Formats: sequence, structure tokens, C-alpha cells
Amino acid sequence: MYSNGDKMVVKMPMKPITVSEIKLHPVALPLVEKLQTSSSWNAPGSNANRGALKSAIIIELHTSDGVVGWGECPAKLYPSYAYEDMGTALHVTNEFLVDAVIGQTIQTPTGVPGLLKGTRGHPMAKAGVEAAVWDAMAKANDMPLADLFAAHLPAGHASRGYADVGVSIGIQDSIDETLAIIQKRLDQGYGRIKLKIRPGWDVELATRVREVYPDISLMLDANSAYTLDDVDTLKQLDTLDLLMIEQPLAYNDIYEHGKLQPQLNTRVCLDESIKTVGDTMLAVETGAAKIINLKPARVSGYTESLKIYQYCVDHDVPLWIGGLLETGVGRAANLAFASLPGVTLPCDISATDRYFDPDLTDPPFVLSEGSVINVPDAPGIGVDVVPERLETAAICWLENIPYKSAEKPDYVYFFHDTRENVVKIGHSRDVPKRLKTLSKEYGKPLTVLGIQRGDKYLKMRLQKQFADAATGDEWFSYTDAVRDYITINTAQLPEDS
Ligand code: MG
Repeated sequence: MYSNGDKMVVKMPMKPITVSEIKLHPVALPLVEKLQTSSSWNAPGSNANRGALKSAIIIELHTSDGVVGWGECPAKLYPSYAYEDMGTALHVTNEFLVDAVIGQTIQTPTGVPGLLKGTRGHPMAKAGVEAAVWDAMAKANDMPLADLFAAHLPAGHASRGYADVGVSIGIQDSIDETLAIIQKRLDQGYGRIKLKIRPGWDVELATRVREVYPDISLMLDANSAYTLDDVDTLKQLDTLDLLMIEQPLAYNDIYEHGKLQPQLNTRVCLDESIKTVGDTMLAVETGAAKIINLKPARVSGYTESLKIYQYCVDHDVPLWIGGLLETGVGRAANLAFASLPGVTLPCDISATDRYFDPDLTDPPFVLSEGSVINVPDAPGIGVDVVPERLETAAICWLENIPYKSAEKPDYVYFFHDTRENVVKIGHSRDVPKRLKTLSKEYGKPLTVLGIQRGDKYLKMRLQKQFADAATGDEWFSYTDAVRDYITINTAQLPEDS
């Protein structure tokens, strides 16, 4: 019953939406505070930006009725938390997911996974697209997103209007610094503290924190930093009255967690290992975990999230909503989900000032009395994307793309042999050098008609497009069609190159 999400029943008649356009906005935002975890510690890439920048793809979805839905794919810059990163998520969304949804009339967002099933894996990319559909559907039906989630659950699961929240504290340089941050968070009103740990930054830290704060609700998150060989270390944490220990063993493991949990009094919570409701069933039924951390983006979206929710409710498994440092777009939707009554433990959804200044959206989320955040009651995600901030974040992304392909992009070039009046369409990462080499090779000077950002696939597409004018070996007659294409689509080679 938990695997038939495509047929998930919605309790009320919904006005369908037809998707007319999807725009992708890759963004990066400076984080107010770095979040160092055991997995970001080991991530590839430069140290400078490690944990300092938050990246995401913001999905802007338009319907034929003029409704705009927003979704977030919270992919990281590096494949550190999950195998997806900004590069893979942009590729998969752009090339496959958008085309699967454009033009479709959608009766309920739980039909979206069926539209995307031709693409395997890539849960975060799928979650972003699905989230935009959920927001658009809620707005088209003039209801808050939390109510739309509840409409897909049995009676008795209406939103509470708020979510219980806690705060997550990354790996610091010293225990004293950690204690200072804990005090700051407690003063702000957070009722549950989570500390990131890794080998060497665990027992001493947690013991000291427990000495200073004997009564706080405290949990640890290892982000997969341990193995079964570390059981003795993990057992030392057992006396500290922890709410749970999260994902101690490998990120893709359930079996060994099933060996670990019986040796600990502390409850094990799984995060990274849970990608589907099937993983949830396996983890719970083999005794590998007693608590589930649900991150909607990790499990490919809210449809799968609803199945996991229903399973946990039916089996009395404590459930909470984790975070991937989402911007206001993703956080608003996670908050709506976290307000459902089957989410029984405090969630990693903090107030806006913990993450960004400013966020992409308005109004900001604030912490209220009792360590809760209230869910906005406006339709959909209930917050507005501020266009200027989206633009600033898009520029920040362009200035911080960490991939080699962005350092030296490919260009398709159009070289003119004026004597024969023919054009060569090729591609290179170093167009001036290529021009010199080819001029020498052909024994005559060539001039540059224009360059266009693009790789060998664009070159192949253009060579096919102008096949009628081909004279051989990537050369083409300089026809009006070729001339028009160059005029419209290309730029001049920069002077200094
Ligand atoms: Mg975690």
C-alpha cells in the first residue's frame, strides 16, 4: 500500500493545471554561518568556499492559467552529502525532466513521479520539479500547501499551523566555541540542539556539552563518519541521554546499522540511507533505525515523502523533517510538510536569520515561543520570491561555479576562408590558438565570423542543420542561412584574446 503513490487518492476535487513553461534559476547564496559536517570535511574542491555557500536550482513553473509555482532542488556544489551536485542536477533537469512535464495537464502532484519515471535516480532534481508543481497546484486551488498535503492523507492529518523546530550546529574549531553557539541558540529560543560530529570530535565534545547543559534536548549527527569498528566509541555516547544519533555508519547502508542499533541504548536515526519508502520499511523492520529523518529532496519529492509519512504513522515510528539548508522556497514547503501531525520530533528548519541575509523570499521565517515556526497561511508555499534577490543569487552562482568546465568553457567557432568564401564550424576551448593552428594548416589566413558558447554537441547539431551547404571536413558554403545564424547567435572574439 505504500508503493502505489501514482494512484494516491486525493480527497477533494482539484482544479487541474497545465504546465506551459519552466525556467531554471541556478543560484548561490552566502551562508550567515558556515556549516561544517563530517561529509563536507571530506568533500572534493577548494577549502575556501567549503560550507560557506549554499547552492540550489530554483524552479519557476508557469501554468496555462497564469499561475506561477516555485520549487527548489537543494543540490550542493559537490557530490558530498549525496551523489547529485549542481552540475548533475542542472543537466538532468534541463535535458530530461523539464521536457517530461511541459505541456502536461496534471490532476494531482502525486502524478508527477509517473511523468518523471523514465529518468532513474536523481531524486533532488526530481524533487525540485515536483515541488514547483505542488506550489502551482495549491495556488491554482487557492489553498496553503499544507492543506494540499493533508488532502492526500486520511482524515485527522490536518496541518497544526506550525512546526516544532531545532537547530543544527556544525563542527567548530573548539568545544568552547561550540558551547558559545549553543548558548546563543538557546537564548534565541531553540528547544533542540543537534551537533555534527566526526571521529575525534565526538565523545569529549558531547560529554562536555552534557555537563554544561544537563537538561537540553540534545542529538548528534555523524553524517556517515563511523564504521562498525567504532562501536566502542559510539557506546560511550550511550550514557549522555541523547535524543538520537543520526546516520553513524555508511551513507548507503542499512544492513550494518541493523548490527549497530541492538548494541546501543541510544536510538539510531537514518538520514542519508533513506531514499524511498522501501528503504524506510527495510530500516524499521530490520531494526536498523528507530527514528526516520525525512528530507523531501532526498527522497525525490513530496509524493514519496507522503508515503514515508504514512508508513511511519502506521508503525509508530518517530519522524522529523531534516534540512538541506534550503532557501525560503524549499524551506517554506518543508515547513508546510513539517506541520503535519505525524511529524513527531523537532525538525531541522530554523529561522531565516540562521541561514541568509537576505533570503530569496519574503517575509522571513521567525522563531516563535515554544521553539516553533508558524506556517504561512497564504496559498501555496505562502512566501514570495523577491526578483532582485533571485538575480543577485544567480550572479553569485555564475561567479562561484566550482567546475573545471566553467573555468574554460567550450566555444563553437565560425572561421571564414575569404578566398573560397567557405566557413568552418568547429569547437574549441581556446579559439585564438585554434585559429592560428588552422591558418597554418590550410596555408591561408582565416578570419573569425563569430563564436558561440557551446560544446561538440552544439557543433554537431549545427553541422547537421547546415548539411545542405556542406563542402566537406566541417567546411560549409557561406550561404544566407549560415550568415543569418552567425549574425543572430554569435559574439565577436574578445580583443585581448
Ligand atoms: Mg543528517
